[in-house]
Amino acid sequence: MELKTKLFINGKWMDSSSKERFKVYDPSDNSVIAEVALGTKNDILEAIESAEKSFISGVWSGLTIFERSKILHKVSDLIGRYSNELAEIESKDVGKPIFESANIDIPSGAQTFEYFADMAVDICGETIPSPYKEVIDYTVREPLGVVGMIIPWNFPFLIACRKLATALAAGNTVVIKPASWAPLSTLMLGGIFKEAGLPDGVVNIVPGKGDIVGTILCEDPRVHEISFTGSTEVGHLVMSSCAKRLKGCGLELGGKSPALVLPDCNMQETIDGILFGVYLSQGECCCAATRLIVHKAVYEEFIERFVEGSKNIKIGMPLDKDTRMGPLVDKKHLEKVLGYIETGKKEGGKILCGGQRLKESPFDKGNFLSPTVFVNVGSKSRIAQEEIFGPVAVILKASSEEEMIKLANDTSYGLAASIWTKDIKASHRLASKIEAGTVWINLHNFVFPSGPYGGYKDSGIGRELGREGLLSLTQTKNVMIGLFEPGFKWY
Ligand code: NAD
Repeated sequence: MELKTKLFINGKWMDSSSKERFKVYDPSDNSVIAEVALGTKNDILEAIESAEKSFISGVWSGLTIFERSKILHKVSDLIGRYSNELAEIESKDVGKPIFESANIDIPSGAQTFEYFADMAVDICGETIPSPYKEVIDYTVREPLGVVGMIIPWNFPFLIACRKLATALAAGNTVVIKPASWAPLSTLMLGGIFKEAGLPDGVVNIVPGKGDIVGTILCEDPRVHEISFTGSTEVGHLVMSSCAKRLKGCGLELGGKSPALVLPDCNMQETIDGILFGVYLSQGECCCAATRLIVHKAVYEEFIERFVEGSKNIKIGMPLDKDTRMGPLVDKKHLEKVLGYIETGKKEGGKILCGGQRLKESPFDKGNFLSPTVFVNVGSKSRIAQEEIFGPVAVILKASSEEEMIKLANDTSYGLAASIWTKDIKASHRLASKIEAGTVWINLHNFVFPSGPYGGYKDSGIGRELGREGLLSLTQTKNVMIGLFEPGFKWY
């Protein structure tokens, strides 16, 4: 299968103004699966103009909330109708097992549109207490205008759905730039919006180079807000670009999330939950549990069973239903992860399993890496501090609850954490001391459209999803009505 895709601007599929295309590869064998139109400066400017015109015209923000809600529900239904095609393209593009894309990414995308379709009718202002009985004061929540969205390659469909559903529910129009390694499912959304009856120009999709089209999106004054998900490094650049125009930006960035294993945990449930926490989507997951902090009382048992579980994960082709771990997204990314494994060895780390690229058939042409577990690593070592973004876990030993908390917070990141215990009091006590935007107790990697998601410290600014995420893409207007009787004079 080789697709040729175009840019989606003002409701039409268009070639790039330079006619250039870039190749998208299947990570399981590095064959070309698509040639995608490469958005240029002219294209992104045209997309911004289209989004601005459609915002000003009121084709979307001027609809009643019930009309908007109805179209967003239709988008959700259509994602459901095309779920098989979407899951297949997502797995081919990113490399994640079809088991995951069919059961997590695509249905969660549909659920996100459903949730925000309902939330659209619940965006309310307030009646404000007035010091004058002749003045009525109330607020309304209005859309921001054009929202620019920049997304990563690891959960491209789901992250696009989260951002789009929220911004559209609030009445904004959008220009979205997918990541170059995995743009296909986001482009498929263009067809879905068209079929759902979303007016032309409300959503514009322009793949292109981050430092060119991404920067223009951040700096153009017609774009009122940037919603960015990606690395902390690029997050800094995005914020600097936005600062030039005093533009708001929501930043969902990287992580190095700890999982704290207490002595009283249910060991089998903990192993199963943390395997999911570490290896979901090949570990290419912002909130992956990659710093495992295990109490010394259960350290040996945990290691033995966790390593056994890691070895048993079924690596395979992404479209095989039995596969539980596919290839990493791109050759370059595989090299980066292998580089971290070498660094870990040089830092004195001991590998208990994995650590190797799979070179035998049928994996030889792809970017497959076996699940990798490190011990004998200090908390300050690079592999325990930096985001590796692959199936690599680091296990640290702790002697007390205090030490577990200290280790959990000993990184610059603060996206998420999990605590594994049967003791409800301990879980509550530890949760309050962890510096992270999400704390899971006896689970990991669960994100709902209804719950706010985002990071402390270097993991981001702002919250996506939930009521908080929705309101962050609106602005408040204070309206006052004077009802003074005739003849009333100030002077
Ligand atoms: P990345 O930062 O390299 O790229 C993200 C996006 O930014 C891409 O679309 C890229 O083209 C664009 N970009 C690059 N340079 C730019 C610039 N100068 N200006 C504007 N845009 C630019 O990240 P990635 O490798 O695609 O994704 C992996 C990262 O994303 C990881 O760090 C991961 O933790 C993070 N992530 C975070 C969350 C979250 O919710 N916190 C979710 C998923 C992924």
